Amino acid sequence: MTSRLPGRVEPYKLAAHAEHLEGLVALGDLPRLVEEAGEQHGDARVWLDFAIDAQGRREIRGRLEAELQLLCRRCLTPMPQAVASEFLLGMVTSDALAADLPSTHEPVLVEDEQLNLLAVVEDELILSLPQVVYHDEADCAVSRDQLSSGAGSEMPDAPSDNPFEVLKRLKGKT
Ligand SMILES: [Zn+2]
Repeated sequence: MTSRLPGRVEPYKLAAHAEHLEGLVALGDLPRLVEEAGEQHGDARVWLDFAIDAQGRREIRGRLEAELQLLCRRCLTPMPQAVASEFLLGMVTSDALAADLPSTHEPVLVEDEQLNLLAVVEDELILSLPQVVYHDEADCAVSRDQLSSGAGSEMPDAPSDNPFEVLKRLKGKT
């Protein structure tokens, strides 16, 4: 796969002709993804099939794969994380019509017969983000030993007016 996915398409025409689109999307061009997951480089690979189903719904069956750079929750340095997602979108011309879609379909809003495919891919990538990621222990900058010695090694607050200490101090003075 070497070609870029087009940014804007006319999805009703693509559905009427049962078109297949595939291409690359530059991850660094997706500002909401970058805001959510940090700096990204490389491309997502995306496959989309447009169709009209037996009920007359315009739909897009899609798949995407990408290698994202996500922060390890333990050492806070980026690590590569493969994500993949399959999705089924139902085209709607208004938010109100989204309620008519079966639960199998995610609504995608088509305005003026135009669809911003990059925004669709960006939404799906954000949905596919794992909650937390960690390096394998051998690869992580923070070892488990460092973590466990860091926890619980704090000295408890020494009681400052232990009566015996006070007594010793008083005796020392006299
Ligand atoms: Zn790590």
